Amino acid sequence: MKRWMKAQDHVRGEYPAVIMKRLCTTPTCTSEAVVTLTYDYDGQVAAIGPLAPPSAQAGYDLCERHASRFTVPAGWTLLRHVESSGDS
Ligand SMILES: [Zn+2]
Repeated sequence: MKRWMKAQDHVRGEYPAVIMKRLCTTPTCTSEAVVTLTYDYDGQVAAIGPLAPPSAQAGYDLCERHASRFTVPAGWTLLRHVESSGDS
């Protein structure tokens, strides 16, 4: 019985090491995020770039589909730092 308990503890201890999957922040979307969207409100610029590190917490993760559909309000500039691989 004690051995079994130890094994369980070992498994529980490894759980946090599971790779965190980043998901698109668009409501109802469950696709994996591939880019991070950030805003500069002062400069009225939205930028789509490579997935930011989790510690940044300064943007919105988007999947490829929503990143390609993303548009900015009138007067804003959209910068894309990643090339779409879906060009046809
Ligand atoms: Zn999405």
